[in-house]
Order: sequence, then structure tokens, then C-alpha cells
Amino acid sequence: MYIDSHCHIDFPELAARLPEVFSRMADNKVSHALCVSVDLPDFPHVRELAEKYPNIFASVGVHPDYEDTPEPTVEELVRLADHPKVIAIGETGLDYYRLQGDLEWQRERFRVHIRASRATGKPLIIHTRSAPEDTIRIMREEGAGADEGGAGGVMHCFTESLAVAEAAMAMGFYISFSGIVTFRNARELQAVARAVPLERILIETDSPYLAPVPHRGKMNEPGFVCHVAEYMATLKEIPLERVAQQTTENFFRLFRLPQ
Ligand SMILES: [Zn+2]
Ligand SMILES: [Zn+2]
Repeated sequence: MYIDSHCHIDFPELAARLPEVFSRMADNKVSHALCVSVDLPDFPHVRELAEKYPNIFASVGVHPDYEDTPEPTVEELVRLADHPKVIAIGETGLDYYRLQGDLEWQRERFRVHIRASRATGKPLIIHTRSAPEDTIRIMREEGAGADEGGAGGVMHCFTESLAVAEAAMAMGFYISFSGIVTFRNARELQAVARAVPLERILIETDSPYLAPVPHRGKMNEPGFVCHVAEYMATLKEIPLERVAQQTTENFFRLFRLPQ
């Protein structure tokens, strides 16, 4: 069994064909998926999917790329996270690649999410792109790490260096790899994935984007997470069954779910 630790099945492309999405998950032995919130107006839809389907979990948060959207407060995130199927805070973080200029609002929004994670004890789902120093610095300043009384979390769709992965792991964070790791031109990331211990790895699709090989360029969906696992097994030269079992166990451990 596999778990897709990060998908967006609430997005119209996937929401329009959910029966197909669920049957592909079953065919490919993908038992669960975490549907990740990107803004507050869409959160009720994410929560509704988690309420309706036993194998779908939800998170609550506002993505760093969403500029013109209601700004969350700590109190609001804490209130919305108070639900048995809402298991994480995010996605949050920093993205200096998509947006430029004065991004102080992005850093402030990130801090708000870390405070909500500490208040609820629910782990963070962190998106970081072209902002490694500020991401790690703010995580430290706000005490995101398990060693600082934080709830820890996951660096999702990881594409940074091994040094950044190690800094996050030192704070008790997990590293999640998406279909990007299967791309032929992702040599550096593949070296990072080889170096990160399996006990710290989650797998994800980030669907509907970033379909792994052999579906690259097509619409992605949670059922395709098995291809990320297959690639990881080849990369680490270990049995696929070990990747499946360990990443599943990691997911349940991180999000404090009974297995
Ligand atoms: Zn993301
Ligand atoms: Zn995402």
C-alpha cells in the first residue's frame, strides 16, 4: 500500500472526475491521500472531501503563491484545524521563484502558520522554492521543530539541496519527494533522495501537477504515487515493498494517526 502525502483533488481538473481518481488509487494500491488546502475560500471543499471519503485526509492553510486571498489569523487556522480529519497545517512556506518584490507578507503568513501548528500540535506542510535560507531561519525563529516544542512536519515537493534537507531533518521534519525525482534531468535531486534516510521520506504527487515518469506531461493524480515509490526503490537499490511499507509508516507516525 502507498499513501499520497500531498495532492489537490479539490482542484476542478480532478474534482470533475473523482470516481476515476478513486478507482485508479485502488488499482495502484494507493490506500490514502492527503488533500492539501491552498486558501481559505476553498477550504470547505477540501474538508467536505475528507468528511465524505474515509481514506482522504485534509489540511488547512494558505499557499505562499496566493497573493489576493483572505489572510489567515492564528486563531482562524486553529479553529478550522479543530476537526478529526484535518491532520496538518498548510500548505505554507516561502516561494521567491513565482513571486518577486517585497514578500514580507509571505514571511508573516508563514509565521502565522507555524504559530497555528504549535498551538494545535498538528504538523506543518511546508512549500519552499528559491528561499532556503529564509525558510530555515523562520522555522528556527518560530520554533517549528519538534525539539522546540513545535509539531514538526514535512518539506513537501522537495527540490532543495541536501544541506537544506539536513537542516529540516535536524528539526524533526520529513522530506517528501514528488514525481520531479523521476525526471531525467533531476540528477541533483536524485542524489539528495539517495542520501535522505528512508525513515525520513514521504512520497507525494502534488497532483494535478508534476506527473511522474511514465506519465510525465499528462494530468497527475494520487494513483500515480506508486511510480514515485518505484523510482525510489530503484534509486536506493532496495525492495519496492520496503519503500511502500516505510513511507506509509512514516506518514502515520508524522500525522499521529493510528495505523
Ligand atoms: Zn507546494
Ligand atoms: Zn501543493
